Amino acid sequence: MSIPLAESPLAAGDRSLSVAAARAAIAAALRPLAGVETVPLAAALGRVLAADVVSAIDVPAHDNSAMDGYAFDGAALAAGAVLDLQLAGTVHAGDASPPAVASGQALRIMTGAVMPAGCDTVLPQELAQLDGGRLRVAPGLVSAGDNRRRRGEDLARGSVALAAGRVLRPADVGLLASLGSVSVAVRRRLRVALFSTGNEIQSPGAPLAPGGVYDSNRHSLAAALQRLGVEVLDLGLVRDDPAALRLAFERAAAEADAVLTSGGVSVGEADHTRRLLAELGEVAFWKVAMRPGRPFAFGSLRARDGRPAWLFALPGNPVAALVAFYVFARDALLQLAGADVPPLPALPLPCAGAIRKRPGRTEFQRGIVERDAGGRWQVRLTGEQGAGILRSMSEANALVVLEHDRGPVAAGEPVTVWLFDGLV
Ligand code: AMP
Ligand code: MG
Repeated sequence: MSIPLAESPLAAGDRSLSVAAARAAIAAALRPLAGVETVPLAAALGRVLAADVVSAIDVPAHDNSAMDGYAFDGAALAAGAVLDLQLAGTVHAGDASPPAVASGQALRIMTGAVMPAGCDTVLPQELAQLDGGRLRVAPGLVSAGDNRRRRGEDLARGSVALAAGRVLRPADVGLLASLGSVSVAVRRRLRVALFSTGNEIQSPGAPLAPGGVYDSNRHSLAAALQRLGVEVLDLGLVRDDPAALRLAFERAAAEADAVLTSGGVSVGEADHTRRLLAELGEVAFWKVAMRPGRPFAFGSLRARDGRPAWLFALPGNPVAALVAFYVFARDALLQLAGADVPPLPALPLPCAGAIRKRPGRTEFQRGIVERDAGGRWQVRLTGEQGAGILRSMSEANALVVLEHDRGPVAAGEPVTVWLFDGLV
């Protein structure tokens, strides 16, 4: 299966696309991968639920007490009157069959204990007045039904406890356990190949050669991929050389569901790269109207078995590579993984300073969300915003998104903010 990018209006060569149009074209091309496996709960965190989990039991399984206290029949409460009851025993959490309670009686009850037949109300112990073997319930302390947890109030039998596509979080893993599950069906983990290109790029660990640049992209992107919960296949550094690139693309397509590259490849200036990619699949070179992050290439490489491996060729500049990852690859990879993840929350916050911006492109500036002197939340830009200044990204805790049609921003005006912690 391959996408008809060549026929779509988005194949318009070097035409500039809006961020929204590029994202829409990517989303339209992708289909979630097939493949399901069963994993134990201990390995379920961050995995994508393959099917709805329907509760086979009521949780809790019985009405039970929410407090340590005294259980009785709330129907006996009368406005303005003291209720005087005989204590007839104690029921602990885990007691299988609590004693029956006759009219005029109460039972001492512990949190989580099954509500005895004939009782629907619990008086918390700190409100109880005890007198020998009797309990006095003063008026107004409780109403009928108080401090009782209903059977099935957490999860009702037959209801959907967790929906397919859910990326499992700690509470979800606990929820599965509360249903009695020991394992869960999840989607196969997405496999993403990653390589950097550039003759000047050098792996860290040895002294920098003259004219050399350490490879930061492969490491920042691998880390970003780890946070997405995908399997990373690190294919290292590839020289700007058609034969080496061909080998790398072929291996990536053979072994992975998606391929991320950074540097040269994305520029598409080099005709050999375009020719190579045209041979290996269908890839569109886009000039996206954004800063940083353009240009960018997206498409599919044909693996030998005919399956597509989706290519995201990111820019080489370290900030641009990460921004393009967040803007184009993150949601796309989650979509391929079958994950049902809501769009990033776009928070409006006042901007501490003015920002120059011209309409006609989307800008992603690095910002720090913090409180101003008066304690109100605001965002200010980190200093120098060049696409090569990775420090701006490292110091930031958010991206400031200046939308396509937006003009200059005055100090104090609201801007849209994506918190980095929401980017995973
Ligand atoms: P390119 O897109 O290949 O023209 O690269 C643009 C800029 O990003 C150049 O200054 C490159 O040296 C730099 N660059 C490319 N790849 C990397 C990388 N993996 N790590 C750090 N910088 C890079
Ligand atoms: Mg390069």
